[in-house]
Amino acid sequence: MADHLSGAGLAAASDIPSLDRLLNADALQPALETHGRTQVVAALRRDLDALRKRALDGGVPRHELEAAAVAARTSAALDEAAQPRLRAVYNLTGTVLHTNLGRALLPDEAVASVLRALTTPANLEFDLDTGGRGDRDDLIDDLLCELTGAEAATVVNNNAAAVLLMLNALADRREVVVSRGELVEIGGAFRIPDIMKRAGAKLVEVGTTNRTHAADYENAIGPRTAMLMKVHCSNYAVTGFTKSVSVAEVAALAHARGLPATVDLGSGTLVDLTQFGLPKEDTVRETIAAGADLVTFSGDKLLGGPQAGLLVGRADLIRKIKKNPLKRALRVSKLTLAALEPVLHLYRAPEFLAQRLTTLRLLTRPLRDIQPQAERLRGVLAHAAGPGYAVEAVPMFSQIGSGALPIDQLPSYGLAVRHVGTGRPGRHLDRLETLLRKLPVPVIGRIADDALWLDLRCLEARDEAAFAAQLAEPLA
Ligand SMILES: *Cc1c(COP(=O)(O)O)cnc(C)c1O
Repeated sequence: MADHLSGAGLAAASDIPSLDRLLNADALQPALETHGRTQVVAALRRDLDALRKRALDGGVPRHELEAAAVAARTSAALDEAAQPRLRAVYNLTGTVLHTNLGRALLPDEAVASVLRALTTPANLEFDLDTGGRGDRDDLIDDLLCELTGAEAATVVNNNAAAVLLMLNALADRREVVVSRGELVEIGGAFRIPDIMKRAGAKLVEVGTTNRTHAADYENAIGPRTAMLMKVHCSNYAVTGFTKSVSVAEVAALAHARGLPATVDLGSGTLVDLTQFGLPKEDTVRETIAAGADLVTFSGDKLLGGPQAGLLVGRADLIRKIKKNPLKRALRVSKLTLAALEPVLHLYRAPEFLAQRLTTLRLLTRPLRDIQPQAERLRGVLAHAAGPGYAVEAVPMFSQIGSGALPIDQLPSYGLAVRHVGTGRPGRHLDRLETLLRKLPVPVIGRIADDALWLDLRCLEARDEAAFAAQLAEPLA
């Protein structure tokens, strides 16, 4: 009779099945097995509430009340909620060390080491020689000293933490002299003046944005000066009428007054990159050799390791830093150390580095690999994008990223997609960009100059088949 009254097979609220009945229905058993009773009950309640509301508002098609239909909706909702939020993507932005996409990718040795540290006990703070308590820094400080020529080393959570800790440990309530040309802001709210304030140090700015002279540093030194500090201009370049004072000169000025010279090197590379055809960047060893008493740098930029902040330099300064309570608050986990050690180890064999260190392999990937790949994938993307778009394999430039060497670009190759026909190209490109971003493994490119650019530098050969498989069908 209800059927008859509701005409087109509409059900009333009273027809909605009970929670208990659904929980016992065969159709719900797979969801219970996968997601457990707690989640299934909550999802069923939400589904039944929605059905009830619609039934009271006018009715629900009767087939939507069947256990199989309820089960399908419930499973879909729970499967969706179970999707990890942190997902693999294809980085085709052209920026190799992309901060928003996780910066450096770890080499296999480091991954294996992390896995081991995660799943077995390890001598994190246990001295295997004496059986006594150890220091977690001991696991990597020898290697860091060997690779940088420093006397001592320690590690914290990231380079921002390293700078904060260094300033608090060595310059609390005292003055730090920095050139105005080096008061950088790195993406994500890292500003030297702010960090300085939080560390309790007083910033003394010297020189001008474009020109700072040795005398500017010299005149700023007073009884309250704790150190002279240099900061790598990571993400910008001052060009034109410029003058800065070298690490060697700043160190000499500092030492003449009995003060330390410190350098926030930012990316902190451990090898001469020009041997790989990459732009020149001062190494940590060169900076120490030039007289820096303390150098801080990131683990996950050009170094190619996990997120970490490394401090290397004079033994007495490192000792002071390790005694500071902030060191305990900013210390790294065993996962970081497990990843860092094998990465540092790779630097002992520089002849294999361009092959074994993922970051360097990507940065040095030759055009003869990238260009044919672009030509192979051009047709694949053209088919997936559909008739509204023209896809070309074209030369382009990649960037190192993460503030390293902002003006240097690496010749690369990739795909440029343009809209053909009428209408505003922007809307059509946005649509395609969204479709690529919604793929199971999202493809991240960039839109500029009325084209969508996909730089193939970071799509290594082993990933190409899976990448193409995702694009086998035209995008919806
Ligand atoms: C990147 C950078 C930082 C911050 O390093 P994180 O490891 O991201 O915390 C600090 N200083 C300079 C000069 C940098 O380039």
